[in-house]
Amino acid sequence: MRQHPPVERVASDPVAFPRAALAAGAPRPAVEAVALLSAMLAYGAVPLFMRVIRGLLDEAAAAAPREAAGTAFLRAISQPGGPRFSLGYRLSTAAEISRFAGAIGTVISRHGGLWEAFAPGWRRAGTVRAGLITLHEALWQALGTRPAAAPGGLRHLLPDPAGGGCCKRWLMFLRWMVRPDDGVDLGLWPEVPPAALLIPLDRHLSRLARALDLTRRATDDWKTAEEVTAALRQLDPLDPVRYDFALCHLAIAGDCTHGRHPERCAPCPLADVCQPAPPRTRQGKP
Ligand code: SF4
Repeated sequence: MRQHPPVERVASDPVAFPRAALAAGAPRPAVEAVALLSAMLAYGAVPLFMRVIRGLLDEAAAAAPREAAGTAFLRAISQPGGPRFSLGYRLSTAAEISRFAGAIGTVISRHGGLWEAFAPGWRRAGTVRAGLITLHEALWQALGTRPAAAPGGLRHLLPDPAGGGCCKRWLMFLRWMVRPDDGVDLGLWPEVPPAALLIPLDRHLSRLARALDLTRRATDDWKTAEEVTAALRQLDPLDPVRYDFALCHLAIAGDCTHGRHPERCAPCPLADVCQPAPPRTRQGKP
């Protein structure tokens, strides 16, 4: 697992979109904008959210065909009155996604970039959570409303990093920004050391973490992300989330079914240390 990342998997991962913007020479704020949109829409079935993100970026590119990938998106979301995308996705309507994207554009116009909205909290408290809280506040200020007064589809795109949830999409966005460019992550925020990151926990990662005895906690929340990250620090104190991409893609590639197909565990590099929970019956009992 230390030999990863499997760079060839990038094309089937949402980081492909900010990577394409970076490769096209888009400025750092434009890459940040594409990254935050991609991270926050990255839930549910991978092919579905990949299609929606690609569609939104294509709509922006169609409005500015001479612009590079990423630059066209930043232009679209920074226009007066905000963008008007036509695509919704699961919990969020097209209008809610447009408002969210417009807020990213407003924050970048006001602060110079998403890093500039994250940095005050980070520098004050020295934790990524504090940085995310200031960035989250800046985005809601740009929206001109409070989360409690906003529709659920908009709140879903901007979860509260102070709320105690595991904030998988925020922490994945941070991993992309902070970890050095290794062909997967982007290394755009070098002031934050990778040691400060937390693991972006989702259902697959948390099941795997329990099978690998990285946590005994039953809930998938911020404390569990801290506990799993602390366990990964035993393996790499300077870069504990370096394993995230490879572990995620065990599920995305269909290689890991959490023990439901034991024949897939035999060639797995984690087989010696992994003890997947027995499959649950319809009654929820092992
Ligand atoms: S040993 Fe099996 S359950 Fe564990 S990570 Fe590998 S494929 Fe998944």
